[in-house]
Amino acid sequence: MFDLSLKLDERSQQGLRRSRRIVESPQGINLICDGKAVVNFCSNDYLGLANHPDVINAFKSASDKYGVGSGSAHLICGHSRAHHALEEELAAFTGRDRALLFSTGYMANMGAISALVGRGDTVLEDRLNHASLLDGGLLSGARFKRYAHGDVEHLQNLLGNSEANKNSVDIPHPSPLPKGEGISRRLIVTDGVFSMDGDIAPVQALSAVAKRHDAWLMVDDAHGLGVLGDNGVGILEELKLSQDDVQVLVGTLGKAFGTFGAFVAGSEELIETLIQRARPYVYTTALPPVIAEATRTSLKLIQSEGWRREKLRQLTSRFRTGAEQLGLPLMASTSPIQPILIGESEQAVAVSNALFNQGFLVSAIRPPTVPVNAARLRVTFSAMHEELQIDQLLDALAKAIA
Ligand code: PMP
Repeated sequence: MFDLSLKLDERSQQGLRRSRRIVESPQGINLICDGKAVVNFCSNDYLGLANHPDVINAFKSASDKYGVGSGSAHLICGHSRAHHALEEELAAFTGRDRALLFSTGYMANMGAISALVGRGDTVLEDRLNHASLLDGGLLSGARFKRYAHGDVEHLQNLLGNSEANKNSVDIPHPSPLPKGEGISRRLIVTDGVFSMDGDIAPVQALSAVAKRHDAWLMVDDAHGLGVLGDNGVGILEELKLSQDDVQVLVGTLGKAFGTFGAFVAGSEELIETLIQRARPYVYTTALPPVIAEATRTSLKLIQSEGWRREKLRQLTSRFRTGAEQLGLPLMASTSPIQPILIGESEQAVAVSNALFNQGFLVSAIRPPTVPVNAARLRVTFSAMHEELQIDQLLDALAKAIA
C-alpha cells in the first residue's frame, strides 16, 4: 500500500539519504565513531560541558536523591524541586521575570508560538529559521509569512505594505488553538545565531520594527546562549537587549549547557500563558530531575569559566584566518559555527567522507535542511579543541576540497 522504497531510493540517488554513525565514547573532542578514532568538529557541545566531571557528579548524586524518571508531566507530579530551582536560576541568568523548562528545544518553539498566536493572528519568520520555529508557526494556524534572511526591510514591508504582502508565503492551517479574542496579534520570530549558517540575526533592528508595529519579538538563542556575551547570556547580552525589546527568549540546554532540554524566559504573564496553553508543555513528561540538577552545575560553569568563551573566540578566529589564506569557501559567520559552502549534496558527502577517513568528523548538511545547491560542511568548535587540531583540520579540508 505504501511504496516507501521508491522514495527512499530516490533520496539515495539524489545524494540526500540521511544516515547515522554510531558513537561508542563519551561526547567530546575525541570520539570513537563507527569504530574509528576521530576528532569531532560537528558537535554543539561548544563549551565542552557534556562530559565535564562536575556535571557528571551532579547528575550522579541527583540520581540518589530523585531516581531517574520524572514520573509525569510538570502539571501532574513531575515538577521537582530541581526543576524549580533551575527555572529560577535561568530566569536570574537571563535577566527575565521567569523561565519555564521544556523537554526539548523543538517542543519549546512549537509550544511558545502556538500558545501565543492562532487563527486571525500573523507570525513572521526569517526564511532560514530552525525547523522547529517554522513548524511552530504552521502548527499555530496563524497567517504564516517568511521574510528574506536577515532582511529587516522585507519584514517591515510584510508588516506594513500590502504590495509586499502579495508575494509573501501565507499558508492557511486549521488552528488547534482558536483564540476568538478579536485581537490580531503579530509575532516576529528569529534564530539568534542561525544554526546552519552561523551568522547572527539583526535583533536590534528587528526589535525596533516590532515596537513600531506593535508586534512581539521571539528569539531562539539555542546557539548563542553560553557562547556569546561576556557572561554567556547570549545574543541579547551582546546586543544589550532587555525583556522589553525581546519578549520571548528561548534557550536550549543540549548545546553549550552540555545536557538536555530547553526553556522559555520572559514576563510573568508569558510564562503563565505557556503553562496554561502550550500543548508541548502540558502534555509531555517532564525532563528527568537528574538532568535539571546536572544543568544547574553547567550553569555555574558557564558563569564562572569565561575562559571557555574566550578560547572559542580564539579558535574560531584562527580557523577563519587559516581558511581565508587557503581560499576555502567560508560563509559570513563570526560564531563557532563555521560552514564551508560546497553546493552539490553528493560533493558535500564526498568531502565529509574523505575527512572522516583522515580522522575528522564533520557533517555534511544538505537540502531540505539548507536551500538547494547550498549543501555545506558544518564545522563547529569546542573550547576543548587545541590550536593544532584546528590547523590539522584546515590541512585536511584543503586536501579534501582540492
Ligand atoms: N532551535 C535551534 C536554533 C536549534 O538549532 C535546535 C537544535 N538543533 C533546536 C531549536 C532544537 O533544540 P532541541 O535539540 O533541544 O530539540
